[in-house]
Amino acid sequence: MSRTIMAGGTLVTAEASFRGDIAVADGRITAVGADLPRDGAEVLDVSGALLMPGFIDGHTHLDMPFGGTVTADDWDTGTAAAVAGGTTTIVDFSLQDVGGTLAGAVEEWQRKAAGARIDYGLHVAITNLTEEVKAEIPTLSALGVSTIKIFMAYKGTPLFTADEDLFEALQIAREAGILVLVHAENGDVIAKLQAQALARGDTAPRFHALTRPEAVEAEATNRAIRLAEVADSPLLVVHVSCAAALEEVRRAHARGQTVYAETCPQYLVFTYDDLAREGFEGAKYVLSPPLRDASNWEPLWHGLQTGDLQIVGSDHCSFNYAGQKELGRDDFTLIPNGAPGLEERAAVLWTHGVRGGRISEQLFVAVLSTNQARVHGMAGRKGALAPGFDADIVVWDPDRTVTATQANRHGRVDYSPYEGMTFTGGPAAVYVRGALAYRDGEVLAEPGSGRFVERAFRQPAPGPAVR
Ligand SMILES: [Zn+2]
Repeated sequence: MSRTIMAGGTLVTAEASFRGDIAVADGRITAVGADLPRDGAEVLDVSGALLMPGFIDGHTHLDMPFGGTVTADDWDTGTAAAVAGGTTTIVDFSLQDVGGTLAGAVEEWQRKAAGARIDYGLHVAITNLTEEVKAEIPTLSALGVSTIKIFMAYKGTPLFTADEDLFEALQIAREAGILVLVHAENGDVIAKLQAQALARGDTAPRFHALTRPEAVEAEATNRAIRLAEVADSPLLVVHVSCAAALEEVRRAHARGQTVYAETCPQYLVFTYDDLAREGFEGAKYVLSPPLRDASNWEPLWHGLQTGDLQIVGSDHCSFNYAGQKELGRDDFTLIPNGAPGLEERAAVLWTHGVRGGRISEQLFVAVLSTNQARVHGMAGRKGALAPGFDADIVVWDPDRTVTATQANRHGRVDYSPYEGMTFTGGPAAVYVRGALAYRDGEVLAEPGSGRFVERAFRQPAPGPAVR
């Protein structure tokens, strides 16, 4: 079998940085160490570069219907954007049909994912938690699905899940070895505040945030955590946006409860002021939970440092400004929720986190890759530079400076919230299972080259936070 040695780079893992070679054969890492024997292997000189395990994004929405429209990025363009940002595996949300089964959702998403350029796993987002669906939850493990998502928000739609159903799902999931992800916002209060705002004639994008205040997220976060405590179940709180919600996670950790928590780059660099931009521009920043004020930035960075937040996912959910975001011109509740960020996630975190002196390069790797693999059930296969792991490798150039423009992006959406922002640090090359998938601005991975990753949630995961 043919062997390749990536030689002379600095390996950055969740634990340490050190000079070393990586040997790759048949898509897997076979050895890591200083001056590995060549034995006729092809040698790839990567001196001067940082080598990291491929980034994993456990939170994406590709080819997803929402409010009568469908996300701008499908699996072809979405995974092109991903690999251009150093991401080699995503876990996307299969959306249950309101009258359908969970297996049906997985089947439908497997069909959509046929064009994937990188590896992928699938969550199931439960949109209608009936008795039949509850009974189906334990069967997901056999499909390689280790996670379900439940919505406490979106009152008035079947997504909205009452406490008794959420609680029962936590009990069932615990028995089945399935991890429950929650969208934690109080759906009752949001529905009331939205109706009151519209009755007053407050229809602009910024009312999206004003009708979803921080306490609404903090309350639901605490409620989900306490329900999980009673059910004796682990829990993953996705897209934590503010200090108040983070505080509930921190309190759970102080009690010794197993709660994982994710934040997203948009909550670290944007604010309510973006939502309040002139005219209808704010629609580009309508996502849920909403953007907060800048006083939340440092607490979120601190949460990453302390390990109360273990992962950073993009929540990439792209809708074009023209024709899609515009659906809500006269009513902010009709603006499709979400923004693109798959391509920018690591660059934001390196520029503002590592270069900004807020996180170490080890923590950068932990929250983008190693912890992602553990929380999302891919430990032992993804998320580390170690023998036996898939050879998903990012050759990271810490000094590469790029200003985000429509021309240099790889997704399909017609705008980016990051437009005009300058990032320092980005991938020079990306390998997926040993194959060159991206180099110098060009996506080389073909549609359909990505493989499905069967996942299994194992406790305890992910272990103590890496600092
Ligand atoms: Zn999401």
